[in-house]
Amino acid sequence: MNTLTTLLMRGLLLRCPVCGRGKLFSGLLKMNKQCPYCHFTFEREEGYFTSSMAINLVVSELLVTAFALPLAANPGIPILPVLVIGAPLALLLPFLFFPHSRSLWLAMDHYMHPLNRGELSADTIEALQHQTEEKRLDVL
Ligand SMILES: [Zn+2]
Repeated sequence: MNTLTTLLMRGLLLRCPVCGRGKLFSGLLKMNKQCPYCHFTFEREEGYFTSSMAINLVVSELLVTAFALPLAANPGIPILPVLVIGAPLALLLPFLFFPHSRSLWLAMDHYMHPLNRGELSADTIEALQHQTEEKRLDVL
């Protein structure tokens, strides 16, 4: 079982929560359906990434609010530049945070609901056994 720290590090690095090697994304916004290394299917059930959308929206809008609200509340700063910068940020940040919101959701979900052997395909089990053997060789 992976520790929360390991899972969060894999999440921040946009890596597979199961093996830590495969990349989650093949493009800026294009997520792989399976891990290219261990072949684990990332979407564990239909609608799996709905929670990541909520995380994305909340974090993005909190960041915009943390930036724009103090500026807007300051009477010495004109409101127009704050709006010109803040409004596009509110639209842009959810796109920029999209990969990490999904990967952090995967990390949190894998911590709260660890994998059971029934979820793993034969390819995934084989890749994980191969990875474990490689780690043993690294130690020697
Ligand atoms: Zn993997």
